[in-house]
Amino acid sequence: MNDLFSVENKIVVITGGTKGIGNAIANEFAKRNSIVFILDKLIPKKNNLTNISHIKCDITNNTQIHNACKNILNKNKKIHVLINNAGITIPNNTKDDYSLKNWEKTLTVNLTGAFICAQTIGKIMKKQKNGSIINITSINAEVGFPNNPAYVASKGGLKMLTKSLAKDYGKYGIRVNNLGPGYIQTDMTKKSYKNKKTRSVREKQTLLGKWGNVSDLIGPCIFLASDSSKYITGQDIYVDGGWLANGLIE
Ligand code: NDP
Repeated sequence: MNDLFSVENKIVVITGGTKGIGNAIANEFAKRNSIVFILDKLIPKKNNLTNISHIKCDITNNTQIHNACKNILNKNKKIHVLINNAGITIPNNTKDDYSLKNWEKTLTVNLTGAFICAQTIGKIMKKQKNGSIINITSINAEVGFPNNPAYVASKGGLKMLTKSLAKDYGKYGIRVNNLGPGYIQTDMTKKSYKNKKTRSVREKQTLLGKWGNVSDLIGPCIFLASDSSKYITGQDIYVDGGWLANGLIE
């Protein structure tokens, strides 16, 4: 039987996949026999799966991204899936202390970095006339949170970059979609998780009454990468336990 959710033999590039959400996604694609390339600033000492390769690079560096793609193409000829997952958050200390440096750094990684990868790999996908680009946004692409305008703006911007690319790339058979996590337990959120009060506030905001786990992103990501979503482009899927749908917290 033809498995609509198959990602077997797909060449998958995932940014920021050395840890957190990206790592969980990379491992699952590899287990399903994709050929996975992780582009990250750090390379782990141990690599458990033979079909995962690590390429050390900073996604904000155009030359490094070009060289990484060249390396991948030398051996594999194609790139079927790009998952723009690398991201950072630098909360400001107080509402009145917005820092231009934090703003620029956040926008450069979360928005410009994703653009560089989509532009470079988009060119490759155009030639092969297919591809799926998945941009990892956030519930912050929809709603404002305190003390971090750069992060909120970067994710809102990424959400709209997706719509724009979906429009331009559709004629080449390339689909571009957003996957937006709610609160997921990773290094990025460990401070809020460790603090009983902030952990509980976030729990209560969801309809399911709990934080998400990195594994919760895997299914939707496989869906968007595979033929099961072949008529879906320019869309937003939120993996947030119902956070954005919650109107009244009692
Ligand atoms: P983590 O901080 O756990 O992992 C992010 C990874 O991206 C790290 O390996 C990091 O490397 C890498 N990275 C950061 N900057 C760059 C760069 N310039 N070039 C290459 N790699 C880079 O984050 P999460 O797994 O929690 O988050 C993954 C994505 O999901 C992010 O885009 C985040 O914004 C989004 N998200 C996460 C949520 C959550 O609750 N965790 C909620 C909503 C969205 P290093 O550690 O060396 O910096």
